[in-house]
Amino acid sequence: MKNFKNYFLKNLFLISSLILSSSLVAQNNYSKSKLKKIKSEVVSTVGENHKLTQVMVDKIFSFAELGFHEVESSKYLTSILKSNSFEIEYGVSGIPTAWFAKWSNGDGPVIALGSDVDCIPKASQYPGVAYHKPMVEGAPGHGEGHNSGIPVNITAALAVQKVMKSEGIKGTLVVWPGIAEELVASKAWYVRDGLFNGVDMCIFTHVSSNLGVSWGQARGTGLISVEYTFEGEAAHSAGAPWRGRSSLDAAELMNVGWNYKREHLHPLKRSHSIFTDAGDQPNVVPSKASIWYYLRDVKYDGIMKMYNDANNIAAGAAMMTDTKVSSRVVGTAWPRHFNKVIAETMYENIKKVGLPKWSEEDQILAKAVQKEVNSNNNNGLATKLYPIGKPSKIMVSGGSDDIGDVSWTVPTVTLRFPSNIPGLQGHHWSNAITMATPIAHKGATAGAKVVAMTVLDFLVQPNLLSSAKDYFENVQKKEETYKPMITADDPPPIELNTEIMATYRKELEKFYYDETKYDTYLEQLGVSYPTLKINKK
Ligand SMILES: [Zn+2]
Repeated sequence: MKNFKNYFLKNLFLISSLILSSSLVAQNNYSKSKLKKIKSEVVSTVGENHKLTQVMVDKIFSFAELGFHEVESSKYLTSILKSNSFEIEYGVSGIPTAWFAKWSNGDGPVIALGSDVDCIPKASQYPGVAYHKPMVEGAPGHGEGHNSGIPVNITAALAVQKVMKSEGIKGTLVVWPGIAEELVASKAWYVRDGLFNGVDMCIFTHVSSNLGVSWGQARGTGLISVEYTFEGEAAHSAGAPWRGRSSLDAAELMNVGWNYKREHLHPLKRSHSIFTDAGDQPNVVPSKASIWYYLRDVKYDGIMKMYNDANNIAAGAAMMTDTKVSSRVVGTAWPRHFNKVIAETMYENIKKVGLPKWSEEDQILAKAVQKEVNSNNNNGLATKLYPIGKPSKIMVSGGSDDIGDVSWTVPTVTLRFPSNIPGLQGHHWSNAITMATPIAHKGATAGAKVVAMTVLDFLVQPNLLSSAKDYFENVQKKEETYKPMITADDPPPIELNTEIMATYRKELEKFYYDETKYDTYLEQLGVSYPTLKINKK
């Protein structure tokens, strides 16, 4: 049965590629001047929709939902897409908050637009206020700026949809969310479950402090996220400790072992851990304990070597404590490789759009925040574009994103758009400050213009899409073969963050943005823009 299914899918793919290539040829009649005209049309539409972009950015900011709990965010975003004739598949890959939205104007290129939507624990922060002021003490907040990416993509998609309709341009737009990106726990599952089958290319968008794109291996790492659980035997800690076998001892010994290992890791590798279960109270020998690691490296083989070492250390710790150990993969991210042809095409559009015009208030806020967090950058918001990012001979370590798995499945780039302040530490309340202010809104509009123009480039220039595919097949994939880090059976860890959201959701609800009553979220919150420490009450 399975073989038949594979055979069928393979042939379906072949047939659809044949149909696709013929329709591509049919569409190849756009002169340079005609393309220029329709690109200027999408740029105007994105500009006219600035209000919608602002509302979307502010709304998602106000929901402040952690990974796997993007309930309000997903409900709201899909309602906009649905009212614009997108067909939505809900709950994809067994993730209740995940969805794929499609709109088609006939056979042609299938272009997917993705971005993340989840937020950061304990990063609650009033927007527009240049010092630490949580909206709800201890609650999550958009201290990574993931509230802005899908608004960029939807704004772009609606502008492109309009011109596809008026010009009869064939093709399909797919809009999808990176659910639980902070846990790198959705995109490899989407890939595994075939959600990118039939997709020709993907444009991913991510908040940044400049407008840019790169190709080749991206700076940063890939990772495997693994939780080790030890099981021992409970006993009265004072009455009969000799009858107990402590799972917490095992988890602590594993960490000791790993920290000795750390001395011998190459500096490009990164690893960090937290205890997710460290027992209940001191007078009971813990029968169960868990420790959760992110193991990162710039290459897949390096990640798997670290994983193997961690498994050995876990087995050693279990042996030392006479406990049992089990583990589960909680998230994965491949090192990212971005497409040269898409990046170069996109960079031409970036140059045309340029950075937003920042107001004096925007710059005052940015410089005050840089000062507040002792940043070594005190120049405020970016006013100059970077050149296109090219692969460097020297690898650079750093963060990961599970868009890596998508980038090894279809030709992909990440557009970074300027909705935040340069020189902040990331995953921090300070990174939330701009995210529902004119800085985020203007940055998102600039990003949407670039996305819309780039989508048009690839919709009407089939040769460009073929070159992107050629780079993907004959350059990128010559370097490395994608092997998923999850198995066919690994479930997505959708129970994560449940307790935190249950604790804070009620409090956060009081702050949801009501765009029918207030022009902006700052207005609803009564924040004067910008609010500086000098005026702190
Ligand atoms: Zn991110």
